[in-house]
Amino acid sequence: MSAPRTVEVGGAAPYTIAIAPGLLDDGHCLAAGIRGKHVLLASDANVAPLYADGVEAALRRARPGLAIGRFVIPPGEHEKTLVRFGEAMGALAALGATRDATVIALGGGVVGDLAGFAAACWMRGIDVVQLPTTLLAMVDSSVGGKTAVDLPAGKNLVGAFHPPRAVVADTRALRTLPKRELRAGLAEVVKYGAIFDAGFLDWLDANADALLARDDAALAEAIARSCEFKADVVARDPREHGDRALLNFGHTFGHAIETEQGYAGTSGDGLNHGEAVAVGMVLAARLSTALGLAPMADAVHLQALLQRFGLPTGMPAGLAPERLLARMRLDKKADAGGIRFVLWDGAGRARLVTGVGDAEVLATLADTRSS
Ligand code: ADP
Ligand code: ZN
Repeated sequence: MSAPRTVEVGGAAPYTIAIAPGLLDDGHCLAAGIRGKHVLLASDANVAPLYADGVEAALRRARPGLAIGRFVIPPGEHEKTLVRFGEAMGALAALGATRDATVIALGGGVVGDLAGFAAACWMRGIDVVQLPTTLLAMVDSSVGGKTAVDLPAGKNLVGAFHPPRAVVADTRALRTLPKRELRAGLAEVVKYGAIFDAGFLDWLDANADALLARDDAALAEAIARSCEFKADVVARDPREHGDRALLNFGHTFGHAIETEQGYAGTSGDGLNHGEAVAVGMVLAARLSTALGLAPMADAVHLQALLQRFGLPTGMPAGLAPERLLARMRLDKKADAGGIRFVLWDGAGRARLVTGVGDAEVLATLADTRSS
């Protein structure tokens, strides 16, 4: 196997993201960040049967003395709860985990957020190694150190900044990912190009077929470049006081759509996160055009690229523009100054804009219906 691609994430607690096919079988790579002898392997009931035995066997080959416990939750965002968090604490206690123990998060963003938060809290903080198995988690949630669980009152309301000790992304694990989840991850990949680099959007356009066919080299390139963009902005602004907010391109609209639909994406009758962000990015691009900030052609290109990836680009039927606007006002990123939109001056050039008039927002929402 050739050497993995690596991305270094700087800041107060630097770490390395390794990206290559087959890394989940590479005990040396998996064990590199493990300091003590206790490991809690956290996963969900879809991912564990596919990959947990292989990961555990690889770890045992590399470190025969490890005490490895398992913590497996049912799949789905609705499991990212304080109850599951309490169970994770119980699993660490049963393992006799000491301060040098490691939590390994094997799964998508749900497992990563929950296991990361458990690691942040056990004995006031132990190591977490992220083994993301969704494209979304590889390019977004496993990088940057945000961990959390949801409350009935809202998503991610309880959490901590707790950067991982290492991130290991095995592109081969994406072969079993449902197609809809792959596409959702591609929406976040497109987002990086939209915010930071028009040339990356062209690269995505040229490599769309390879990415959809899950070609390892194309995926590794897309993941590495996405992680570089995110690592860069996170190092500059770890706690989201400034630039990191640009990562919310498409998300103010997207979150409003998700909440208005009651997060029905996984049950099939609503948009999932990546799909909502895809629609949100088109809305942000079109609002930018309506405000005279950016050329229409860039919005049209973005929409075409998202469509190539099989993503929705129009407002779902049945969502009233007025209700979405009301939702956006309640978003935790809105403050006394009103809604902070991430808009763009054209492809690759995002920026924060406040003081956008309601009439423009409502008109853009009304004009971007799905056909
Ligand atoms: P995300 O990373 O999109 O936030 P989740 O953690 O909810 O999301 O994962 C999305 C779904 O995909 C879950 O049902 C999860 O069990 C499943 N899943 C994650 N990774 C894989 C994989 N590599 N192969 C098959 N299914 C997977
Ligand atoms: Zn997102």
